Amino acid sequence: MADSTPRLELSKIQGLSLPVYHSWLEGRSIFYAPGMLVGVEQAMLKTFVQRLSGLASQSGEFNAQPEDHQLDPLAKEIIQAAQLARQTWQALQASPFNPLCLTLYPNTECNLACRYCFAQPISGDESLHLSLPAVSAGARLVAANCRAAQQPLTVVFHGGGEPSLDLSWIESALCIVEDAADRAGLPIFRYIATNGVMPEENAAWLAQHFDLLGLSCDGPPDLQRLQRPQRDGHDTSAAVERTARVVRQAGKPLHVRATITPQAIRRQAEIAAYLCEILAPQEIHAEPVYASLQLSPADRFQPDQASAFIASFLEARQTALRYGVAWKMSGSRPGEIHGPYCQVLRSVLQLIPGDSAAACFKACTASQAQVAGAWIGAFHPASNSIVLDETIVKRIQGAVLGLRGKKDGCPGEACFNFYHCARDCPDFCELAPEVHPAGFRCQVNKLLAASMLTETAFANLGRQPAWSVAIKL
Ligand code: SF4
Ligand code: SF4
Repeated sequence: MADSTPRLELSKIQGLSLPVYHSWLEGRSIFYAPGMLVGVEQAMLKTFVQRLSGLASQSGEFNAQPEDHQLDPLAKEIIQAAQLARQTWQALQASPFNPLCLTLYPNTECNLACRYCFAQPISGDESLHLSLPAVSAGARLVAANCRAAQQPLTVVFHGGGEPSLDLSWIESALCIVEDAADRAGLPIFRYIATNGVMPEENAAWLAQHFDLLGLSCDGPPDLQRLQRPQRDGHDTSAAVERTARVVRQAGKPLHVRATITPQAIRRQAEIAAYLCEILAPQEIHAEPVYASLQLSPADRFQPDQASAFIASFLEARQTALRYGVAWKMSGSRPGEIHGPYCQVLRSVLQLIPGDSAAACFKACTASQAQVAGAWIGAFHPASNSIVLDETIVKRIQGAVLGLRGKKDGCPGEACFNFYHCARDCPDFCELAPEVHPAGFRCQVNKLLAASMLTETAFANLGRQPAWSVAIKL
């Protein structure tokens, strides 16, 4: 979508107890509730709002009524979508933490020196490791939950540091998790996120043992060299390209994670073309660089860069589409009800070096988790189990899932994007007590969601006299 293209400007409908929003688009009235978009002719606006008000009680319940107007089926659809969004949100707040995915951070070491890394990897004797008994206890806990929920078990290897540095550890951990899944009679899905800088035989081993590989690559060699060099300063492009080739030749799916920095803000289409042509993944996840403290202000995005970021992002999405590749970002996913990235909201048990469990993907050691207020439990050798502190889990759920936005400038449910927005996480943590102004990510999330909804609205605009479409973006 070009910058000059009209974009939905959705405002909450005043006086309605449920989250339903309205905007004009090319002379038509567009209504939105999380999961549903409805268009009606301009002349129908007043009647449609009256029908909506009749269907939503003051307490936000759905008032079942006989359908005695041609607009009632659409009004009912959108009111029910709004009610479902709010109920899903309340269930997220209330549900016990029963993780269905096991995410392992094996170590705190890395062979690269990415200039924006939040993990602060440690080399040599001081590096920390996750123990195999902790992995075993975590696998049993997650397998029991998966069996109860009749879901496959997902295991993710991530860092922290680079997870593939010690393949014999990975092999042992995989065996342990596979055994736990097997004993519970569960299918297993194995994913590893890697920097891809490894000998060819290691890449072949990973491709053989994992169902999906996520490769970090920031684009053409000049960007990769600048942003993701080896610790000794050497270039990493050739190794990453080789790893991608090995994965493709093994017939395994490949996703790429590209970090977009302020320096590359306008180069996203070029990055997309390089990644599609040379690495040829199925999906590319383009994420704005995290504003970690070691970055200088010039290396962090500012809120007024959001429009330029999204314009370039959407251009890159078109480029990737021409190669049949999805170009995505995770901050706002209008097809899902979601909040920030906290693992306790995503049913993920994240085990980190020091044998602790953390609620935040940025916490790579027990001490980092403690400082962030995201430490939620640990492996207890005496009971050979992972012991989670439910009080801390509840506190985190409550802190990040309030119905009002916490920071200045986030009006909570009054924003159309509230039910699918990661807020300013991870630049500003929702667990931090201080209130902060709405940042770059808020603006980006809002613009991206509005752009995607506008595209859907445009695709349906010609339908007469009224239409609805479910949002699956
Ligand atoms: S953080 Fe921004 S985009 Fe997200 S809900 Fe709040 S105001 Fe809306
Ligand atoms: S809200 Fe805070 S704890 Fe949760 S994922 Fe974001 S940075 Fe981590």
